[in-house]
Amino acid sequence: MIQARVFEELCDNVGRENVFDNIEERVCYSFDATKEKHLPDLVIRPHTKEHVSTTISIANKYNIPICPRGAGTGLSGGAVPVKGGIVLDLKNMDKIIEINAKDLTVTVEPGVVTKDLQDEVARLRLFYPPEPGSAEFSTIGGNVAECTGGMTGMKYGVTRNYVLALEIVLPDGSIINTGRKTLRSVAGYDLTRFFVGSEGTLGVFTRITLKLLPLPEKIGTITSYFKNIDDALNTTDSILIKSHFLPRSLEFVDKTGIDAVRGFTKEEIPEGVEALLLIDVDGNEKSVVNDISKIEVLCKENKALKTLVAKTDDERKILWDTRRSISPSLFRIASMKFNDDICVPRSKVREVLKRVYELSKTYSIQVAAFGHIGEGHIHLNLIYDEGKAADLSVHKLISQILKEVVSIGGTITSEHGVGDTKSEFIGLELSPHEIEIMKELKKMFDPKGIMNPGKIFV
Ligand SMILES: Cc1cc2nc3c(=O)[nH]c(=O)nc-3n(C[C@H](O)[C@H](O)[C@H](O)COP(=O)(O)OP(=O)(O)OC[C@H]3O[C@@H](n4cnc5c(N)ncnc54)[C@H](O)[C@@H]3O)c2cc1C
Repeated sequence: MIQARVFEELCDNVGRENVFDNIEERVCYSFDATKEKHLPDLVIRPHTKEHVSTTISIANKYNIPICPRGAGTGLSGGAVPVKGGIVLDLKNMDKIIEINAKDLTVTVEPGVVTKDLQDEVARLRLFYPPEPGSAEFSTIGGNVAECTGGMTGMKYGVTRNYVLALEIVLPDGSIINTGRKTLRSVAGYDLTRFFVGSEGTLGVFTRITLKLLPLPEKIGTITSYFKNIDDALNTTDSILIKSHFLPRSLEFVDKTGIDAVRGFTKEEIPEGVEALLLIDVDGNEKSVVNDISKIEVLCKENKALKTLVAKTDDERKILWDTRRSISPSLFRIASMKFNDDICVPRSKVREVLKRVYELSKTYSIQVAAFGHIGEGHIHLNLIYDEGKAADLSVHKLISQILKEVVSIGGTITSEHGVGDTKSEFIGLELSPHEIEIMKELKKMFDPKGIMNPGKIFV
């Protein structure tokens, strides 16, 4: 509950028209793309870094939790205000401040939508590669806070690889600038990288400078259907390890994912298919045609039942619609799902998938596996209908899967962040000493613990 005089102080400083305490607004900001829910006491929509800074210094003075929010597409509860307080909606700060084509950089406010930025730089034949499935909605601020990955990670890496400099409002309201607008800089500790992936727990980004690349001339896409997972995984090894191709994307979908999406998109997937690979390559016209035809041969050598090469942009879109629709189409099977984003060393993918399917049978919970398989990344979606017994089994199954993932050298989250949905599992991966160091660092920046409390650490 925020006292009337604090409410007035906030209105005086950021403008009454930017402060919302009505229930309709608060409900709209009580959830993200998980099904977690918690009402904030207040919503503030700043327009400037000064608005952000005063809001945070007032919150700091009165010990009020602050939960930064982009588009709320996060999949780990990051933007859910689990301790109440103020949701700081950054979507109004959505200017592309400067595209510097010669320097290969772009500077933006945090509320710019990922795809809008990509489209804008593409007009100058420049390329911002990180491409989450949520790119049409997610914001650059949210991407930086989660170190978002996505479809092009195989060749181009993740958000971290593109963040050059940040303007950050710290939990006491002060403003710092980290990094440089140069493509390289190693002066002192790398504070910029430290803040990337900090999940809104250390400060609020108000300005972000990103690295750009020249836009590839052409993208080629091929889909390949397989009778079983082994054939699909053998194909990924043939492409990457034996033939030394570096695709832009190398995506995988298992039988449960395929069956869920069948009939949901325009792609006609043959019956009897238990694994699908979707591969993008980019480069110049000639190299793309050449690479696609060689990859098609590799798919066939590894017993692909059928391959489809996209001949037009519309055909590419149809193939990608299938991949992008997997997650929502799983709700056709059951009303609830828990979204895991594990990553294991590539050589362990087979082992981990085998174990996941065994555990899925033991706990009678259906699991769909899909993801950026070229990097050893797998989205494991546990699908179930609401109910206490199911919730308990899901929790046990997740714990068991994550334990096994960590024991073979994998990670419990490779792009969605810990948030509050995975905070209880962080001790599986990080030692008590590492967690202590992280908590000390958090305390140094945020001694009162107002920035997105309840996230990352239990
Ligand atoms: C259909 C779908 C597909 C997805 N595909 C992918 C994918 O391929 N790869 C992937 O990595 N993720 C994916 N996601 C997850 C999600 O889209 C990303 O995590 C995205 O980066 C979140 O951006 P957002 O603007 O919605 O942030 P929000 O959900 O609003 O917030 C996410 C976190 O960032 C913090 N935050 C937001 N803005 C700021 C700021 N300016 N300063 C400091 N902290 C801030 C919040 O406090 C919160 O902790 C997907 C989600 C959906 C629903």
